[in-house]
Formats: sequence, C-alpha cells, structure tokens
Amino acid sequence: MSESSAAALRLLPSIDELLRSDAGVRFIEQEGSVAATISARRVVDELRRQVADAGAASGGKTDLLLRAARALDEILTRESSSGLRRVINATGVIIHTNLGRAPLPDAAKRALLDAAGYATLEYDISTGRRGRRGARAESLVAELAGAEDAVIVNNGAAAAFIALSALAAGGEVVISRGELVEIGGDFRVPDVLAASGASLKEVGTTNRTKVADYERAITERTRMILRVHPSNFRIVGFTAAPSRVDLTALTHERGLVFFEDLGSGALLDLSASGLDEPVVADAIRDGADIVSFSGDKLLGGPQAGVIAGRSDLVERIRKDPMYRVLRCDKLILAAVESVLLEYRRGLAVDKVPVLKQIFAGADEIHARAKGVIDQLNGAEGLSAEINDGFSAVGGGAAPGVEIPTKLIAIRHSTCSADRLEERLRGNDPPVITRIENGLVLLDLRTVSEDDESTLITAIHRLSE
Ligand SMILES: *Cc1c(COP(=O)(O)O)cnc(C)c1O
Repeated sequence: MSESSAAALRLLPSIDELLRSDAGVRFIEQEGSVAATISARRVVDELRRQVADAGAASGGKTDLLLRAARALDEILTRESSSGLRRVINATGVIIHTNLGRAPLPDAAKRALLDAAGYATLEYDISTGRRGRRGARAESLVAELAGAEDAVIVNNGAAAAFIALSALAAGGEVVISRGELVEIGGDFRVPDVLAASGASLKEVGTTNRTKVADYERAITERTRMILRVHPSNFRIVGFTAAPSRVDLTALTHERGLVFFEDLGSGALLDLSASGLDEPVVADAIRDGADIVSFSGDKLLGGPQAGVIAGRSDLVERIRKDPMYRVLRCDKLILAAVESVLLEYRRGLAVDKVPVLKQIFAGADEIHARAKGVIDQLNGAEGLSAEINDGFSAVGGGAAPGVEIPTKLIAIRHSTCSADRLEERLRGNDPPVITRIENGLVLLDLRTVSEDDESTLITAIHRLSE
C-alpha cells in the first residue's frame, strides 16, 4: 500500500462518528441501533476499499464523512421502500396479482383489526366450549352458494388440491384435454392432480370433448369427473364441451363425484357488466357435488380457497389430514366472514371494491378524472387530459374482457414518460401507472375515492 493511501485510510470516519452524523441519527431513529451499526460498518468497510483502490482520498476527512453519510442514507431509503407497502393502483387492472389481488371492503379491514387480538376462532360463546374454526364463514358460503356445506382453506390451489386428495387419491380422475390448463406459473392442473395422489385420465381433444368421451373413459378405478374453468384463456371457433347438467347426470349414474374448479367463482351473476364467469350457485344447482374457487378473485376478499358442496364430501375434506396443513388463520376467516356478510345483506355491489370497480360506468370515471384534473391547475410543466381507454379484470379472470374507461394522460414539458412513471412509483405511497404511446396513464377505476387527494398530491410533486 502506498504511503498516500495509508494516510488517507487514517481519515476514514469511525463507525461511531458516522452514527453520530445526521444520517446516522436518522437511521437509528427509524431502524434501531443494531441495524444502524451493521449498516454503518458496511458503509465504512466499502469506503475503506474504495480509498485503498484509489490510492488516495479525493478529499479530506469531512469529505469522507459526507460520502459515508450519503451511502448510509441510501441504504435507509432502500430499506424503507422495500417490504410489503400500501400502494395506489392506478393501472386499471382490478384484480392485480402483483399488487395483492382484491382490495378489501372497509368492514373487512375493521374485522381484521378486531380479530388481531384474542378472538373466538375455535370457541363457542354460547356454550363456553370449543367451537369449529371458520364455522360462521363456512355456513355463509353454503347459504350463498345454495350448497349443503362449505370449508375454507388457504387459497384456490389448496382447495383444488385437498378436494382431489381427500376424494380421489388412489383412484382415477377423468378430465378433458381442453382443461389441462396452467393458471399463472406454478398451478398446472396435471401437476396438482399428480401431487394429490389421484391419477389422470385425459379424454377428448384440446378443442372438443363430448359426454361419450367421458363415458368411455370410466373404469372401476374412476372416482371423479373433474371440470376446470379455463380462467385465463378462451378457445374460440370449432369447440364443444358437454353441458354441466349432462356431465353431472353421467357422473351420478355411475356413482362418481363431480368436482368443478371454478377459478374465480362469482357469487353474483356479473353478466350485466359484460363478464361471463361461472356463478357458484349455478354450478351447485346444475348438480356439481363439490366446487372450489378463490377468495381473492371475483369474490373480492382475502387470499383463501373456498370449497362448497355435498355435506358428506365436505366433511371428508375437513377430516383429511391435509386440512390441518392448508387451513387459514383467524385474520383471513374474519375478513372472509365480513365480505360474505356484505353479499348476504345485498350490499356487495356497493361495498366490495372488486364488484364496485367492475360495475363503475365510464361516465362516473370521467367525472372523477375531471375532478382530479381541475385540481392540477398551476402545476408547472404539467399537462393532463382525459382519453378513452380500457380497464381489465385481471387475476386470470375474464380474459379478453375490456371494460371501457376514461384515463388521465399526463405529460411534462421536461420530463419523459418513463421518468414520470418512475417518480410516481417512488412516491410515498407509491402510485403504480402504465405507459402507452409515450403517455403516463392513470385509471381511476382502481383508485379508491379516499386515495384521490393523495394521488393529486403525488402528481403535483412531479412539477417540483
Ligand atoms: C386462480 C385459479 C386457481 C388458483 O387459485 P389461487 O387462489 O390463485 O390459489 C385454481 N384454479 C383455477 C381455475 C383458477 O382460476
């Protein structure tokens, strides 16, 4: 090592000096002294390497302390912007998988807080004895689905898995080749079937399967006929699939179980909004013995998997050892219960954000967009206009359905669209937008009215 770099190394701040700087004090305040010391040590080590490499310090002692403080501040910023954070979703994708799928109704948020302490998870107040976990939420599901009973597990994939493993393990499950689908990366129907211990009997072709195809495939090993809703794609053209009524008739004639994985599983008929998604109660009415669907797709609740159907089959699922592995905790059950109550009160379209957003008209979005733009007057360099566009349902539901909407398109005289998008994303809370044709677009359909003023402040900051 040269003499000059040895001299420079003596000018490095000590860990203590760095922790006493403004940046150090800030770090200790926000993250505690243990984390601050670890980060300060990392910063000083890195600075020592840089100084040794450079052969000499570029500035004096004050300059080195400044550099260290800046590096420490950068770590703090990085840390406080990572982790799970609330964001404003201005993308117009309603069930946004990367942004946590369904936003919960206000009542469900309150229910989460209420259940955060001690709660009657497995306790019956009227008898003072042990109660069944999820009993209330499950009876609400059964009621809304017109089913005998229901059970709730961790997510839609878990629901499909446990229904297969409890009801068909060791036997064969007949399924159409058109339904051997992949739902978002790691949920592939053939893999889930294999993991459940049931074996797969494929029938028909990708585009056409008939009742006779199912009929021919049934052997003494067959336990179940499985139907999977192709949530995230549509096959169009020369296609055929037997009706649910025909298929359940065959299933029951042969003494088998008909199980349908509905994917989103709408509890209400959403066809008035242009969505053609299977309704849970219809599947039960058409003769499905058991159905499963997600809690955080069209239902609009927290991540959960719901199973409804015949009480003997539901009971077998509840008694299956895998139930203990896949069951949900009190917070989820509290939120599910609260969302289901909105449905039962007939208020879901008003109170459940996913449904409210699906049914919001473009004129309503236009009025809100205009209100936001009016408040952007005077933001220097910034211009905003309202454009026609589309929102999407997302979450692998209703592929290809585009909901007409009105978009706020913003531009800045000196800032590129990429930079604007990045700055909005860097806001606290982050505002997530999309860019199309060089414009930053905001869709208020997925922004709650409560967040509008926060959004306006974030846009105003762009002109700073
Ligand atoms: C989404 C989906 C699943 C998985 O549900 P998760 O809640 O995401 O675990 C399973 N089957 C179908 C048909 C789906 O659409």
